[in-house]
Amino acid sequence: MGYVILDLEFNNMMDIEKYFNRFDSNNIKVCKECPNEIIEIGAVKLDKYLKELDSLRIYVKPCIYDVYNPKIKEITGISEKELAHGITFKEALNILKDFVGDNTLCSWAKDDITEIVRNAKYHRCDNIDWIKGYIDIQEYCTKVMGEKKAMSLKRAIEKLNIRMDEGNLHDALNDAEYTKEVFRRIYNYRALKNYIVEDILDMPAIVVKEDDNIDIDTNSIEIKCPKCNSDVVVEYPLKFFNWRFIALSHCDKCKNKILHEVIIKKTLKGKMVYKVNKTIINEIEYMNYADKIKQIG
Ligand SMILES: [Zn+2]
Repeated sequence: MGYVILDLEFNNMMDIEKYFNRFDSNNIKVCKECPNEIIEIGAVKLDKYLKELDSLRIYVKPCIYDVYNPKIKEITGISEKELAHGITFKEALNILKDFVGDNTLCSWAKDDITEIVRNAKYHRCDNIDWIKGYIDIQEYCTKVMGEKKAMSLKRAIEKLNIRMDEGNLHDALNDAEYTKEVFRRIYNYRALKNYIVEDILDMPAIVVKEDDNIDIDTNSIEIKCPKCNSDVVVEYPLKFFNWRFIALSHCDKCKNKILHEVIIKKTLKGKMVYKVNKTIINEIEYMNYADKIKQIG
């Protein structure tokens, strides 16, 4: 058994306002059920020794949006003609399913697997039992390379000194090939096996953003000192900031200042999952965060 590394490109209506005057505004409605329409599938198949066995590139003919976002066209380089000659999503999914077979599916970050599930659901072909196991190579790579923030593929490529032609990024098959190069360099089965997800629907895959109108019970989140585990004195309660909630506190016992971060994710089944990070910070960092919180109001 080996691995199939997947990469997708989508069309969506993100930032389309910038081109608004070129389009009839009535056409620009975001599809809530499936905001990111898959337009290209790229995949690379590896055996268990990471030798490349096969590759796949499919263009999917769009049917959700009539408008092809010029920004996406610019980033991906996919032409209208290629899309017009594409196959249906259903056909594409069947080809991908056969291509994956019994291999473990992998991708850089969980967006692509999330979109496979979401697009499949939209097209009423939501049996995804054929995905037997899944690895988020970004998560694994970020951990083994000791980075704090989720790494971009580009950063991983650069850090690992992989030869790259920047113009080639954001092409589904090329990105899958680059991900393969990264994967080969950091591969260690004993470490990797802890990252294999059996049930992708239970995986916290979707980062919840502020505009999703989340209603979290901030009291249910335990706020304790990471050093001595005593209850802390909260000076600034949880507020949404960028992509997570933050709060500031101090510990009377060990006199530390603490930054609390709560990241909210949703599983593909829709269940909310909280992840709480606690970091001891110095006075200056504390003041900086306090200023930011004050600015949110
Ligand atoms: Zn303490």
